[in-house]
Amino acid sequence: MFRADLHCHSTCSDGTMTPIELIDLALSQGLSGLAITDHDTVSAYEEALEYAQEKNFQLLSGVEFSAFHLGESVHLLGYGFRLDHEAIQSLCQRHVKRRIERATKILEKLADRGMPIVHEEIIFSAFGVNQKTKGAIVGRPHIAQVMVQKGYVSSITEAFHKYLGDGRPCCVETSTVSARETVDCIHEAGGYAVIAHPHLIPHSFVIRDLQNMDFDGIEVYYGNLPKHREERGLRMANKKEWMITGGSDFHGSVKPHIRLGASWVGEETFSKLYERFLKHHPQFAF
Ligand code: AMP
Ligand code: ZN
Ligand code: FE
Ligand code: FE
Repeated sequence: MFRADLHCHSTCSDGTMTPIELIDLALSQGLSGLAITDHDTVSAYEEALEYAQEKNFQLLSGVEFSAFHLGESVHLLGYGFRLDHEAIQSLCQRHVKRRIERATKILEKLADRGMPIVHEEIIFSAFGVNQKTKGAIVGRPHIAQVMVQKGYVSSITEAFHKYLGDGRPCCVETSTVSARETVDCIHEAGGYAVIAHPHLIPHSFVIRDLQNMDFDGIEVYYGNLPKHREERGLRMANKKEWMITGGSDFHGSVKPHIRLGASWVGEETFSKLYERFLKHHPQFAF
């Protein structure tokens, strides 16, 4: 059966597997297609595309952008866009820079509360021994990880719950880019814009208002989400005649309860996105 996972993270953002390891895992799980949707970066594709082609595996361009709408933080997915498009590249660069600056501000807040961490520890947590920084991003999970290692908290969950989560005392603004600007950027680069995991948007006025924007799809199938929680997204997709997408939001060992392929889409949806990708990157057709 054709199954494609349209939502997962690599070591280029806050996942624990490299882009190549993700493709190998997808193949071993019997998946037919994949989009790597790192937070605010497409650098996974630098090594992943050639490898996927070698393995005859259908890899689709993807990204998960952090945005804000009506003062709330939302995640927006992009698919099938041209990877080297100036609009995408410059938005990713803006986010890389914003995230470094945000990490510095978060560290100041933690230090004020008696939890000192030096910048290098975060960089090591995010980029590993080889310090591969090109295009990779720093996220709150990397800071949470260091807090656990230093014994300030006993788990990543506790770090988010007490300090780093949205609205918690050490959380600094999560994105300075609006949803509208993000959607325009994805469209400019020739891609489809999709609302990620709508059930995680806490305020219903936000999700209601997003319905007035120019999205192409909504992520209905997500991780281990139970069926009854898919209904709202399904209703919205039908009303707006949007595409229905899905994926696991696999992050590797930092979220061990979610496996790659936990949620997926079938051939019809995948092909629509993949055709758009091939239009921009015909060299990857086989
Ligand atoms: P950032 O992109 O740096 O703002 O960090 C947000 C990311 O942190 C999310 O995409 C999740 O992967 C992760 N995250 C958010 N809340 C939690 C939580 N309570 N426990 C563990 N990870 C979380
Ligand atoms: Zn993440
Ligand atoms: Fe997300
Ligand atoms: Fe995600």
